[in-house]
Amino acid sequence: MNLRGVGVSPGIGHGPAYLLTARVPEPPEGATHAGDADQEKERAVMALAQVAGELEARGDRAGGEAREILKAQALMAEDPGLVVKIRSLIDRGTAAPRAVHEAFTKYRDVLEGVGGYLGERAADLDDLRDRVIAQLTGQELPGLPPPGDTPYVLVAHDLAPADTALLSGHAVAAFVTEEGGPTSHTAIMARALGVPAVVACAGATTLRPGVEVLVDGTSGEVRARPTESDVARAESVDTARQAAIDRVTGPGRTKDGHPVPLLANVGGPADLEAARSCGAEGVGLYRTEFLFLGRAEPPGAEEQERAYRAALEAFPGGPVIVRTLDAGADKPLAVLPPGSAEPNPALGERGLRLLRAHPEVLETQLDALATAGAGSGGRLRVMAPMVTTAEEARWFAAACRAADLPEAGVMIEVPAAALRARDLVAEVDFVSAGTNDLAQYAFAADRELGALSELHDPWQPALLDLLAGLLAAAAQAGKPGGVCGEAAADPGLACVLAGLGAASLSMGPAALPAVRAALAYHTLEQCRAAAESARAATTAAGARAAARAHLTELEALGL
Ligand code: PEP
Ligand code: MG
Repeated sequence: MNLRGVGVSPGIGHGPAYLLTARVPEPPEGATHAGDADQEKERAVMALAQVAGELEARGDRAGGEAREILKAQALMAEDPGLVVKIRSLIDRGTAAPRAVHEAFTKYRDVLEGVGGYLGERAADLDDLRDRVIAQLTGQELPGLPPPGDTPYVLVAHDLAPADTALLSGHAVAAFVTEEGGPTSHTAIMARALGVPAVVACAGATTLRPGVEVLVDGTSGEVRARPTESDVARAESVDTARQAAIDRVTGPGRTKDGHPVPLLANVGGPADLEAARSCGAEGVGLYRTEFLFLGRAEPPGAEEQERAYRAALEAFPGGPVIVRTLDAGADKPLAVLPPGSAEPNPALGERGLRLLRAHPEVLETQLDALATAGAGSGGRLRVMAPMVTTAEEARWFAAACRAADLPEAGVMIEVPAAALRARDLVAEVDFVSAGTNDLAQYAFAADRELGALSELHDPWQPALLDLLAGLLAAAAQAGKPGGVCGEAAADPGLACVLAGLGAASLSMGPAALPAVRAALAYHTLEQCRAAAESARAATTAAGARAAARAHLTELEALGL
């Protein structure tokens, strides 16, 4: 059986499958408590505190990156919004385990709706919920086998940090999960342990326990019952690929020295270390939604300032591009709801539109950014999400100037903005293309719908045309035009974007080394020729093949 997911931690691993699939059963719907609500609330709060304490202790034992991750998870257990929700459900008669289940499910839905980095925290919430319910009901949690002589391939729906924190890289040959994405904790922990990992691998949990599995953490391929020669071939390709990637260090540039700064997409201070260790030259997209999540009130200026300053301190030499709050549609935030019910939130009041309706939220954020930037000596740039017209760009630039922010930009992720990019560029200091939303709106295909993934393929020639136009408009105006959507993380497409004139590329940190290598092995001329041929194609697959014909080293690099 061959399965395919997304490779998030490179390398080849093989061994018998160990399935970690059992979950704590859902407490029955409608379960009520015996009548003493205060006692029941006390029980729930104690269970939350107990679980938070255990997670912290586990983090202290594990040390390193796991400590920070488990501390963050422990904090979630004591989130005031969650506690209030659990208490109010118990006040209405719900039994504590059921109240915990319902409150966590609601919070999880919000996170999942946000998508990206935040959506990938949903598995942490499921793990917390199971731990608290197990604590309340006296159940044992499913655990991992003790380390044996043969490293195993750990297969699960998703893995929580508490599952993996105490694992040693020697016990596990690879991770495979059905859920998760490049910034899920499975991915973070796997990279920290140096263990290959594949996430978003549909059908993984149908693997038979004990069956031999071969996992390619770069290509995302998962093969059951491989032959010895399958394993040998995969290992030799991977060794060559890794050696080629490792040979390339330093700032992003093409073979002939054309600079293409490689920046990181981050969701908060916890991502900065991964960005630095992957050689990011700065931050190309700081998604600030994380700071506002699960709150009744927006975070104060000081708290925001601290979070922004951490990024500026992590990258004193490089740009730090912070996006103002992008609430609404796939990122609904309780602190900033749309003004009225929206039948189609993706086309509703979101991003900058929502900030214009709540100028006080934008003002606090811009002030916090200005204070963090002024004290740091770093190169802070601030950009607005979901900008559609030049008038909106002008309005945002004026708001930044009023807050004493020296560099204001806009994301280009709406086709109207891409088509008239020259008008928007004239109003601001830089632009950055968000290919995830630009594809969603150009193809009228909801980015959350897996069934439409063909239309989200960033190699679609129509998307390439939009990108070509907007990058050319920025270049003509002499202002930086970067790309910060997922498209930049594909090594071949990154070369095409460089060929189209992208001034910088920003991506999830894990993608940086492969993109750096792909650029370093091709000249700017090859990148331009690849871009031209890709745009001449009529399908996404055709564009990819046409570009790769010019990017002659990708095959040898295993990219
Ligand atoms: C995008 O839309 O491409 C983008 C980078 O922003 P987000 O994914 O956060 O909407
Ligand atoms: Mg977007």
